[in-house]
Amino acid sequence: MSDGLKIVVLIKQVPDTSSAAGVNPDGTVDRARAKKMMNPFDKFALQKALESRRDHGGEIVAISMGPPPAIEVLNEALEYGADKGYLLSDRRLAASDTLATAYALFKTIEWIGGVDLVFTGLQTTDGDTAQTGPQIAERMGLAQVTYTETMKITGRTIRASRIIDGGLQHVELQMPALITVANSASKLEYKTFANVYKFKELARDPKALEGRVRAIDLDVIGANAARVGLVGSPTVVGKTWKLGEKGGTCKIFKGDAPAHEAQLLAGALAADGQGMEELLK
Ligand SMILES: Cc1cc2nc3c(=O)[nH]c(=O)nc-3n(C[C@H](O)[C@H](O)[C@H](O)COP(=O)(O)OP(=O)(O)OC[C@H]3O[C@@H](n4cnc5c(N)ncnc54)[C@H](O)[C@@H]3O)c2cc1C
Repeated sequence: MSDGLKIVVLIKQVPDTSSAAGVNPDGTVDRARAKKMMNPFDKFALQKALESRRDHGGEIVAISMGPPPAIEVLNEALEYGADKGYLLSDRRLAASDTLATAYALFKTIEWIGGVDLVFTGLQTTDGDTAQTGPQIAERMGLAQVTYTETMKITGRTIRASRIIDGGLQHVELQMPALITVANSASKLEYKTFANVYKFKELARDPKALEGRVRAIDLDVIGANAARVGLVGSPTVVGKTWKLGEKGGTCKIFKGDAPAHEAQLLAGALAADGQGMEELLK
């Protein structure tokens, strides 16, 4: 395989959970106002993509689906060393559930063609379903490994270890394959000066940048608009509510040391007429 691997990594832009900006009074996220960031789980996927290219050569294509500002996560992926980025952005994608999202991303990967490896994060910090990767693998008829911690490639064979209840499972599969990467895998390494400089130079010339990071829509990838957006999404969200609304309060006891905090808790329980025995029942 002289040209190395064709690697896709899926990266989603999510609301920045450490920022209060963009949170509505009812606790829901105002996506337009929220500060945004690269989904932290996708950094582990990007690292696996970089390691695979380092060891076997080839090209890394980062893909994101989202509104136009999501192009930022692709630019960031290039700063980390990805070769190309595609942002699938189309108004008709609004209100897509995971079935529709997986369809749209699958069509994008199919449009790129000839892919050996697809890396995704384990889950996102907003949707949090962990369904997208496995659904794409199913649609593409690809072998898949979820919760992957380590992997080694020899020829077309991947040997991977994945997290299961109480331990690790070792699996062997053939490329092409889709790998969802656990957040206990290797952390994303720092951006190198060379990559950041390369990106800055590229960004000076919008035409050159467009050649590397490009926005595409459903028509470009030949996707069926009836299978995305609200019309293509069978999921119905019945109700959402703010955590804590269902009752219960939380009181935090802050003391000089754990023993002191335990004393404060025991004192409060006693004052409330409850002992430890009551609590442990
Ligand atoms: C009824 C309904 C309506 C919705 N409407 C909207 C909406 O209008 N706008 C909106 O933003 N979201 C909307 N969502 C959420 C959206 O469907 C999910 O964010 C999306 O399907 C991905 O699921 P997830 O976030 O749970 O990803 P997971 O399955 O947890 O993600 C796993 C991995 O898949 C990859 N991945 C997931 N999503 C993307 C992406 N977009 N781009 C690139 N890689 C990705 C990443 O590598 C990620 O780590 C809606 C959900 C429902 C149920």
